[in-house]
Amino acid sequence: MNRFERFGRHLVPAVFAGVTIGAAAAPKSAAIDETAYRSHIARLASDEFEGRKPGTEGETRTLDYLESQFRALGLKPGNRTSYLQEVPMVEITAAPDAALKITTGAESVDLRFRQDMVIWTKREKPEEAMEGSPLVFVGYGVSAPESGWDDYEGVDMRGKTAVILVNDPGFATGDASLFRGRAMTYYGRWTYKFEEAARRGATGALIVHQTDPAGYGWDTVVNSWSTPQLDNATADGNAGRVAIEGWITEAAAGRLFEANGLSFADAVKRANTRGFRAEPMGSTASASLHNTIRRTRSHNVVAVLPGTKRPHEYLVYMAHWDHLGRKPDCTGDCIFNGAVDNATGTSGVLTIAKAFTSARVTPERSIVFLAVTLEESGLLGSAYYVDHPLFPLAQTVAAFNMDAMHFGGPTRDVTVVNIGASQLETYLADAARAQGRVLRPEPTPEKGTFFRSDHFNFAKRGVPALYIKGGIDDREHGEAWRQKYLADFTAQKYHKLGDEYFPEADLRAGVEDLSLLYAVGARLAGEKTFPNWNADSEFRAARDQSRGKAPK
Ligand SMILES: [Zn+2]
Repeated sequence: MNRFERFGRHLVPAVFAGVTIGAAAAPKSAAIDETAYRSHIARLASDEFEGRKPGTEGETRTLDYLESQFRALGLKPGNRTSYLQEVPMVEITAAPDAALKITTGAESVDLRFRQDMVIWTKREKPEEAMEGSPLVFVGYGVSAPESGWDDYEGVDMRGKTAVILVNDPGFATGDASLFRGRAMTYYGRWTYKFEEAARRGATGALIVHQTDPAGYGWDTVVNSWSTPQLDNATADGNAGRVAIEGWITEAAAGRLFEANGLSFADAVKRANTRGFRAEPMGSTASASLHNTIRRTRSHNVVAVLPGTKRPHEYLVYMAHWDHLGRKPDCTGDCIFNGAVDNATGTSGVLTIAKAFTSARVTPERSIVFLAVTLEESGLLGSAYYVDHPLFPLAQTVAAFNMDAMHFGGPTRDVTVVNIGASQLETYLADAARAQGRVLRPEPTPEKGTFFRSDHFNFAKRGVPALYIKGGIDDREHGEAWRQKYLADFTAQKYHKLGDEYFPEADLRAGVEDLSLLYAVGARLAGEKTFPNWNADSEFRAARDQSRGKAPK
């Protein structure tokens, strides 16, 4: 059943007319096979796949399904003779005897695990410790050359422990000229804070939790970090990370600053001011951890359609295949089917692959179809891919990520997460115009959505990446109706048992978005251009560097 039969062409003439006529290079949306899209979602979100949890029978079935679909489309394996890329993992669980002591002069204070602090190590060691590491308040711990901002300037962090604020000065001050104002930047994410502290050679890194700039309460920190931590296994056992990572509560930070004769609030104000310099404190930190270490593995699935003229230049369509598996301690229907998150995106990759393989003209550039694992565990499959790329990142023109394509009807708009970041948006805007749609910013840029799905790992390595979400201005029901629909999904279904497929699910919005992404990729596949990040983007420097070394 196609959507013309189901809904009648007259209902939304602008969409179909726009797509059918199209901009010169825009392919018809007929290229996207809704029936195929629907059958993939129905299968992947069925109980047979057991919630697609890495390391379970659900993984085996998902890999088999994706591989057989790629093979049936005539796509080549992306990893020499294999469609699979093994992702080695390590799971580290810190024992509850984790200890962190702050010493100021003759005074020592033991912070309580879970109540005052959570600490861990990413290093693959059965125990880790630091002794008397001098604390340095590094503000937001940001080093942003494109903004002329370096919190670490002039300080040698070796052997020391950074005390770091969460988010960035733009959020704190609301000053739009600083780090895009309240919109979250890469520099605001906790991941960045730990990475930068490691680059500076610090021994420890402690982030001060504050609910408003973090976007979540202390409970979330405790629940996320005092449980087993899954991470990519690396050749050096993550020796490049700082020894001790962690969070402390705002109250604990307040006492620390007080012990140094300082006010935490005043320190935050200084950190919000351009020209701030890291401030050594008169306190030291000692910590110890005991870990249980378990090694495991999962898999990315990769296929490629070789380009006819420039096969060594690539466009990547990606989505995470993994989800949450079964709910523990549960009776009845206990499978997290993850229909929207992310059977839709995974099915989108397969459906776009079908569009490319059934197009009249084979693309000039190669098209890579990538289903990554362990997104739900912290974007680990995509992190592994960019560390071990099967196609050179410098030659990867763009990455398009599909994560949670909501059910619903067509819209007048399309949401671009982190809008204003790259030149890819020009292509997107053209293709959207051909559908009678306009681009719009995400409604809550302070949530840092851009940093919470797999394209972000590509962006960090400089690859221009687009992350769109369906529109909000519903053509039939309007904007308020769609806002409520999305809010209800988040409250009632997101990462819950209710995220299920049902045969009446309206897939027109998804088909419209897939058409859009297909149009952008099909156009780029016929060009020689390498669209870049915009000059003020935190990802621009990485791209310029990698393209600088790439063969021309
Ligand atoms: Zn997802």
